[in-house]
Amino acid sequence: MRVLVTGGAGYIGSHTLVELLGQAHDVLVLDNLENSSPVVIDRVNALTNGNLEFVEGDIRDDAALDTVMDSFRPDAVIHFAGLKAVGDSMEQPLSYYDTNVRGTIGVLRAMDKVGCTRIIFSSSATVYGEPVYLPYDEAHPTNPTSVYGRTKLVSEHIISDWANASGGTGILLRYFNPVGAHASATLGEHPDGVPNNLMPFIAQVAVGKRKALSIFGDDYETPDGTGQRDYIHVVDLARAHVAAVNFAQGAKGAKTFNIGTGQPYSVREMVAAFETACGKDIPVVVAPRRAGDIAAMQADASLAKAEMGWAAEHDLNDMAASTWAWQSANPNGYED
Ligand code: NAD
Ligand code: UDP
Repeated sequence: MRVLVTGGAGYIGSHTLVELLGQAHDVLVLDNLENSSPVVIDRVNALTNGNLEFVEGDIRDDAALDTVMDSFRPDAVIHFAGLKAVGDSMEQPLSYYDTNVRGTIGVLRAMDKVGCTRIIFSSSATVYGEPVYLPYDEAHPTNPTSVYGRTKLVSEHIISDWANASGGTGILLRYFNPVGAHASATLGEHPDGVPNNLMPFIAQVAVGKRKALSIFGDDYETPDGTGQRDYIHVVDLARAHVAAVNFAQGAKGAKTFNIGTGQPYSVREMVAAFETACGKDIPVVVAPRRAGDIAAMQADASLAKAEMGWAAEHDLNDMAASTWAWQSANPNGYED
């Protein structure tokens, strides 16, 4: 298949490129590089057959989208491009709606013009909001508590409506907490500035860039009092996209899948796993709860297994060890 990957130079996109090229798909990346580096493209080419095509461009630029669609003629689009910082989204809502929602509409319009009928979309478990029950299954009510979450939910609705009206296919993947890095230690996550997410923060403490991890609350109603999440290895997540591309060939309309492991881990369990992986103590301080955090969440990922034949294979040790291998080999990310 010919697969156009928006945002393919990013953290999840880059790992997905390796898996797609490994399955002999033809792949073109459209990315404006606002949160990624062109070095990623070289590294993906070094890990694969070297046939990756790259176009620097913005999904909000209709002319750029048309040019790419017209020349590449994709059979499917994987749409990763977007803004993802929950805190920023509350301060710059229009920017988030513009990139995440208007950008998605632009991608769908450009697909229509060349008769491309399949899209795989990066959604998030954050669309569920405060759990009514756990684990979340795909039928759980959606009630996102941030602008970011709302841009994802609105985009899901737009893709569903488009698929139903056009006879196209929209696969909506609700990711849980992606962590880890490629086994080569040449691809991984490198957030700009102070990491918001737990795993990159722990990795930066381990490599000596930060003094200590602040644990945001140890008085939750969880076994050790710290927040629990469903962490998923980024390579498993990447493979879910390959499964979705294949699944989309035989599907019509919109279909939603949780992409997680179903196994929650607490902050303290993540710290312990990382200490084992890196062989060092990770200093921690207990801090107040972070506003908006929920105590615990986990996926029921059985639908993805039943319908797409996909299930996570990497365990917590793989997540911690691959993160440490990447972080220690690339302390400054792609600038090394
Ligand atoms: P990322 O920031 O590493 O990758 C996103 C990529 O999109 C970057 O390369 C960036 O340069 C590009 N981009 C941003 N705006 C663009 C635009 N207007 N035009 C073209 N390219 C643009 O993020 P990621 O972690 O790889 O996330 C990928 C997708 O998955 C995002 O849509 C994100 O919201 C979603 N998601 C991420 C997580 C997570 O925890 N990482 C969880 C759930 C969902
Ligand atoms: N967390 C923490 N310290 C940090 C970052 C995160 O204690 O510096 C906790 C956070 O409160 C949550 C868990 O780690 O319980 C995962 O947080 P993350 O931001 O990675 O994911 P999200 O909350 O978006 O699911």
